[in-house]
Formats: sequence, C-alpha cells, structure tokens
Amino acid sequence: MDEKLKNLIFVLNCGSSSIKFAILNPYNKRKYLSGIVERLFLPETYITWQCSGTKYKKIIGSNITHEYALNFILDQVLLAEKDVFKKLIGIGHRVVHGGTKIKKSILIDDNIIQCIQDAVSFAPLHNPANLIGIKTIIQKYPALSKKNVAVFDTSFYQDMPKSSFLYAIPYNFYKEYGIRRYGAHGTSHYYVARKISLILNKNFNSLNVITCHLGNGASVSAICNGVCVDTSMGLTPLEGLVMGTRSGDIDPSIIFFMNKNLNISINDIETILTKKSGLLGLSGVSSDFRYFEKNYYLKKEAKRSVDIFCHRLSKYIAAYTTLMDNRLDAVIFTGGIGENVPLIRELTLSKLSLLDFKIDIERNLSTVNGASGLITEYNSRPVFVILTDEELAIAEETISIINKK
Ligand code: ADP
Repeated sequence: MDEKLKNLIFVLNCGSSSIKFAILNPYNKRKYLSGIVERLFLPETYITWQCSGTKYKKIIGSNITHEYALNFILDQVLLAEKDVFKKLIGIGHRVVHGGTKIKKSILIDDNIIQCIQDAVSFAPLHNPANLIGIKTIIQKYPALSKKNVAVFDTSFYQDMPKSSFLYAIPYNFYKEYGIRRYGAHGTSHYYVARKISLILNKNFNSLNVITCHLGNGASVSAICNGVCVDTSMGLTPLEGLVMGTRSGDIDPSIIFFMNKNLNISINDIETILTKKSGLLGLSGVSSDFRYFEKNYYLKKEAKRSVDIFCHRLSKYIAAYTTLMDNRLDAVIFTGGIGENVPLIRELTLSKLSLLDFKIDIERNLSTVNGASGLITEYNSRPVFVILTDEELAIAEETISIINKK
C-alpha cells in the first residue's frame, strides 16, 4: 500500500457553528487533508480545505445545517478520497461533554451514543452537533461503525479535587443530579501542556502550568504536578472567561432579574447568555477578534470589550497561581486568539507584573501566524505561545483506543 495511505484516522469536530475535519496519520503527525466549514446557520456558509498542498474554498449556501454541511464534506470533498476512506483505521469524534458516566475516550456503540445524548443538557450547544457527526458517519459508513471513537473535552478534568469541582449549593444536587464543574477544551489544554513539558524537558507528572485556550470558546486550566486542579468552564461551557458570544461568569441573580423584572423567558435568557453576550454583546458589533484587534484604539466599544476580556483573564491567571504548589513553570497561550493576538497577551500580562511577568514586546509581536515560543523576557516568569492541534490530539487518542481493542 502507498505509504501515504497507511495508518490514517478521520477526525471530525462538529462544533456549534463550525465543522472541522481532517485525515491524518497520528504516528508521523502528517496531515493528508484538513478543512473547516464556517458560518453554519448564517448567510454564505463556506468550506475551506487543503489536500496535498492545494487550498480550496467554496460557498456551500446560506443558513446551512450540520447535516447538510457534513454530507457536503463526505460527498463532495471526500468523494475524491473514497479509496482513502476505505483504508481508514479509525474515526475520532470530538465530544464536548461525557456527562456523569463517561470518564475517558471510548469506542462508540449504542450505549455510548445514549450517554452523550443524556449529557445534552450539560452542553446544549455542542453535544447535539457532536451526535449529528457520529450518527451521520455510522449511517453512511456502516463497515467502519466499530472504529468510531469518542474523545471527550471533559476527560482531562476527572481528577480535579472536590474543592474545585463542587459548587456551594445543596450537596444533593451533585449527588443526585451530577451538578458540578466538568470543564471543557480538555483535549487542547492537555495537548499544549504535554508540548510544554517536552520544551521545558520536564516530566509531565511534575509540571506546573496555567494554560489559556482562547478561541471562540475560551477557558483557563490550572495544572499542578501533571493533574488538572481547576478550570474556568463549569457544568457547561458557559462559565468563566468572556467568549465570542458567551457571557462567562455572571452573578446568577441577573437571570432572576431578567426573568422576574424584565419578563424574559428562561429560553430567551439562555439564548442571550450563550449566543448574544460575550464580545458580541459587549461591542454590539462582532464576535470575531480580528475586529477588536483592528479597532481597539479606534472604537470605544472595541476597547471596552477587550478590556473586560483581559481583566477577566488576568484575574483567573492570578487566582490559579495559588494552586501551583509554590512553583509555576509557565503560562501558555493557545487557540485562535491566544496564538494570533499580541494585544491580548500584552494587556493581560501587564496586569500581572506584581507576579513578575514581563512581556518581551518584540517577541510578543512576532509570535503570530503559526509562530510559537517564549514571549516574555528571560528574567520574567515564562509565558509561551504554543499552537494547539486538537485534530492531532484526537487522532492520537483514537489510535490508542483502537490499539487497545
Ligand atoms: P474555535 O475553535 O473555538 O472555534 P479558534 O481557536 O479557531 O476558535 O479561534 C477563533 C477566534 O480566533 C476568533 O475570534 C478569530 O477572530 C480569532 N482569530 C483567529 N485568527 C486570528 C488572527 N490572525 N488575528 C486575530 N484573531 C484571530
């Protein structure tokens, strides 16, 4: 067999408003094909993908659903790769929430599908999309049905202490209904933490880092001695940092106020907090960070939004230093914003000078567009930009589960 076609995994990351996909070899980390569908449910949903060094872009249509976009990927983009598809050794699905029952990556069967369904209320924007991906693949490729693996964002947080994952509400809500902090983005936090342990030449089990994944969704994790000891996302991916359209932390009483005093229904409040808040809500203009980067010094709504974003982020980083067992090896920035927006890194770290963070202006400015590395001065606490690769991390998990079979 052509060497290029050996050991390939198809990775599917069906998000709330985008679908990322890739075919790659987790052993040599080579990507055979990768792509993304963006702007689902909006005018001009489009797909971009690249294969063998050639890039493609197509408008699929308007207000496109997950099902339609997935079938487009499978029938139009991957049709040319049908021989590759037959030779896949596994399919890895990103699933945001494993709920109360699933702790680790696992081969998908009917029981696992039901567990993911049961966890929909813990990730209402994400698990339904993840399920569409799983069901579409199994239906379309029944011969591959026993090779589908679910890789959960929540797995990395299973060892958090109770002091981090319990909310101060009556204990029976945790015991009887599983209401606790579950976290999300675990695949990315774990991936960049493993990368920094190699860069710092440190055993993972003795690594103390704070990882900031800043994308449309955003979260911070505290990792002490290789174990995640706290994270900013909670029962659902709504808690924590300011995000593209999600509010992050708010006083829960705002919900009662909106409902009782403003007569806004619970469903509408959910939509406000998940789809109309965050950077979009604060600015009234956009959730795309490119807008904020361009307009920070020009438009007051852009400055206001970014300042709140950085204020919240620096508070979390400072708080998580208290969980580091007296040693912090590094802070890591990753995700579309963390990897590409020097402004965010500079504004956030400037608030942390009391903790000895000193940004290196030049290094910070040049660490964009696929560059990575140290962005602080040598006599500072180290801060690194590390590129995340959730697709590779999912492919590595998938192959390890398939090999255990
Ligand atoms: P997710 O995986 O959560 O959908 P990403 O990690 O792809 O998100 O990050 C998306 C965010 O990153 C968006 O706000 C986007 O505007 C921002 N982003 C990506 N690239 C750049 C860039 N070159 N400059 C500024 N912002 C960027």
